[in-house]
Amino acid sequence: MIQKTMDLSLGKVKIKIGNKTLMEDPVFFAGPCSVENLDTMRKIACDLKEMGVDVLRGGAFKPRTSPYAFQGLKDEGLEILSIIKKEFDMVISTEILDLRDIEKAADIVDIIQIGSRNMYNYVLLEEVGKLGKPVILKRGFSATVNEWINAAEYILNIGNDQVILCERGIRTFETTTRNTLDLNSVAYLDRNCRLPVIVDPSHGTGVRELVKPMALAGIMAGADGLLIETHVDPDSACSDSQQTINMDTLREIMKNTSEIWRLT
Ligand code: PEP
Ligand code: MN
Repeated sequence: MIQKTMDLSLGKVKIKIGNKTLMEDPVFFAGPCSVENLDTMRKIACDLKEMGVDVLRGGAFKPRTSPYAFQGLKDEGLEILSIIKKEFDMVISTEILDLRDIEKAADIVDIIQIGSRNMYNYVLLEEVGKLGKPVILKRGFSATVNEWINAAEYILNIGNDQVILCERGIRTFETTTRNTLDLNSVAYLDRNCRLPVIVDPSHGTGVRELVKPMALAGIMAGADGLLIETHVDPDSACSDSQQTINMDTLREIMKNTSEIWRLT
């Protein structure tokens, strides 16, 4: 019987990402919302690698609210990620939406992302968990912390304890920003849950200028890392352009994060 993660007495789960261990150093997950084409992905990977970003992220399969919006390059996107992984020797993370894509992604993707819309898809959680790779479990946008932890338990209970919780904002009465980034949850989980937690200030705010302050606030709240949508030319991004930052802003965030990390 696997213990509940909310049990304070359990030791922290240490997940190794590249050369770092989550919880010991801040880990950066960065890259575009969607994989767009090989050339752009090469430029992005080149800059991110040079900056010391730990994980390159990019969506091949995109869960879009409108069925008419860009749905991602799908298999072609996975192929691009596979080429980039070989060329740049980077740790790759991408979202899996569908059971049918798990096998294809298994050889290419190092860290599987479960998106906010699929946090309640327990069959998908179990099947993805069976790969034995780290899983980023994004919080459902209307999920309570307790429901989120229970979703994580579906992965833990099949024997995979490499779950990274990602606070990406919840839907509230507030409409000024795309979501309300719930940093209470981050401070709470830091004290009450043995799983690492990262913050996604891109979806959490939906506003480019708010990404840096909320990224730093996330670290102060106790996050173990940041997941940030970043592009060489954010205005041209195929999806979530309004919340995507450029390389210079990411560089500033990384510098400021290392300055404040020791304060947390
Ligand atoms: C994403 O990370 O690109 C994404 C779609 O996130 P979320 O599931 O949090 O909306
Ligand atoms: Mn996005």
